[in-house]
Amino acid sequence: MARIFMDKDASLDILKNKTIGVIGYGNQGRSQALNLRDNGLNVIVGNIKDSAWDLAISDGFTVKDISETAKESDVILLLIPDEVAPKVMEDDILPHLSKGKVLDFASGYNITYGFIKPPKYVDVVLVAPRMIGKGVRDLFLQNRGFPVLVGVEQDASGKAWDYTLAISKGIGAFLPGGCAVESSFYEETLVDLFSEHSWAGAMLYLLQACYEVLVEEGVSPEVAILELYASGELGEIGHAIAQYGLWNQLSLHSRTSQYGHMTWGKRYITEDMKKLMKSAIEEIKDGRFAREWSLEQLLGLPSFNRLWKTMLSHPICKEEDKLYKVLGRR
Ligand code: NDP
Repeated sequence: MARIFMDKDASLDILKNKTIGVIGYGNQGRSQALNLRDNGLNVIVGNIKDSAWDLAISDGFTVKDISETAKESDVILLLIPDEVAPKVMEDDILPHLSKGKVLDFASGYNITYGFIKPPKYVDVVLVAPRMIGKGVRDLFLQNRGFPVLVGVEQDASGKAWDYTLAISKGIGAFLPGGCAVESSFYEETLVDLFSEHSWAGAMLYLLQACYEVLVEEGVSPEVAILELYASGELGEIGHAIAQYGLWNQLSLHSRTSQYGHMTWGKRYITEDMKKLMKSAIEEIKDGRFAREWSLEQLLGLPSFNRLWKTMLSHPICKEEDKLYKVLGRR
């Protein structure tokens, strides 16, 4: 069983009297920086000169360029998009890494695939929130925690786990309801990509296919869209799954619904589906997906942009737009 760490297992002491440099003041960066500072820690922000820079200044942080922040920080939280991190690392951070420094990631991707290769004399740790950036801050303000996956790739100081748990505590993971689960850069990357490539991606295509079938059957686009996702019921079911469990949450539905879920829902799940899942795992493990995505970026995102265009040109988007305007969402 994976080790599960709670508040009693962590101390902020190791971070006291240290300078924590949060690189990137976006989704995760802003929330983590604010939570760390509210926990009494010394945080500076490194960012490119853009609106996020201005926001960090107006939030009261000392903001410097990324290179200067890396130079001045003992503990560096790399919270910029994974696609740009290798170059920023190479140009602005690596030259300032020295023995005793700690490099913290919120995603295992770049280390797993070797796109970032930190020197052996620094600690390399993972604190990957299972929570969007906004949630990291909102929950903290409600005195509530969230789960993080944690791991240590390099323990040069012999204290890398203490740093990992201290960062987890500092960003608010150990408040009531939260925890840190022992994982690794590799495992975090595997589960993260696998979720995106399997149920999460398939769910969007599935909902779109359901829309097509319902509309072909004469259901109005408005009713179909509300039924499938716009009502917010899908989100409520997601919350119920998290709260009560995958199947246990079914008891919140009517008996007719429970029976329908358990019988007809299963028809779509075939042996082929598991084979597809296994090949998705293989493509993640052997780096095929990562190489394809790197190449796509190198070529200037032609498929990515074409896919976006295709998705947004589906009738569901046009109908959704009309409905969301009526509902005051756009
Ligand atoms: P964001 O997309 O919010 O970007 C973070 C910051 O990086 C922004 O201030 C952005 O500036 C800046 N940035 C963008 N391009 C560059 C560049 N070329 N050079 C320097 N800075 C740049 O990132 P996230 O917070 O979403 O992700 C950060 C890390 O957290 C990633 O490793 C991600 O995988 C991980 N993570 C994210 C989660 C999420 O909910 N988003 C959940 C868990 C982990 P600008 O605003 O100008 O673009």
